[in-house]
Amino acid sequence: MSSLIELENVGKRYGNIIALSGVTTSVEAGEVTCVLGDNGAGKSTFIKILAGVHQHDEGEVRLEGSPVKFNSPRESLSSGIATVYQDLAMVPLMSVWRNFFMGAEPTKGVWPFRWIDEGEAKRIAKQELAKMGIDIRDTEQPVGTLSGGERQSVAIARAVYFGAKVLILDEPTSALGVKQSGVVLKYIIAARDRGLGVIFITHNPHHAYPVGDRFMILNRGKSLGNFAKSELPRDELVKMMAGGAELDQLTHELENA
Ligand code: ADP
Repeated sequence: MSSLIELENVGKRYGNIIALSGVTTSVEAGEVTCVLGDNGAGKSTFIKILAGVHQHDEGEVRLEGSPVKFNSPRESLSSGIATVYQDLAMVPLMSVWRNFFMGAEPTKGVWPFRWIDEGEAKRIAKQELAKMGIDIRDTEQPVGTLSGGERQSVAIARAVYFGAKVLILDEPTSALGVKQSGVVLKYIIAARDRGLGVIFITHNPHHAYPVGDRFMILNRGKSLGNFAKSELPRDELVKMMAGGAELDQLTHELENA
């Protein structure tokens, strides 16, 4: 059986700048693939290719075995790839249930006499959030009153409900403290357990390691390799990150100062 997503020698340039080059990796259903790298490593470019924001100009991307090149975010989404960006595209003053549906609310009545079935929408939102282990007392509550971790989890539950096969999370923990990050990591695991292939983009190996099944490390647009968790101790992962090596260097310099 083919992987959910495969990238083979994928490359992308912006004019003269090579943002990605020769990137090969795969994403399996029911697994978390972590893509790690420092600033400028090519993480956003990697996301944008899968999310249909930019197109790769080298290599091949395959979705369930078939080559794909998405020309728009809509194409990517309708192929079952949901991307949750760090800024989340949520409306803080709008209720949890409105944000959950975002224009795709269930309706009642027959056209042209159709209206949003508010009761049903609230019921589904509450039920879907509960399935992911998220307990929100009142879905009327504005999204802006939720914690950062809870907001991320609403976005994750929404993607799961709307049938995503692949969930891409763009630095979901980078703006959060340890406790809130833990909340998000829990929902990443919940999405994985529901059978999605999760792509977790982060620069933080300590967030990636506990939930990741495989790891790809990007450095200046190139992959430093793909590793299963069993073949990559956490210390190694930390070291492989440019930041890790730099930290070692800094510590060394300080010790010898
Ligand atoms: P990351 O998300 O890991 O920080 P990016 O994918 O944003 O990395 O960037 C990879 C490289 O591509 C960087 O050198 C960056 O400056 C460059 N880059 C990204 N987007 C553009 C763009 N739209 N135009 C020109 N260069 C870009």
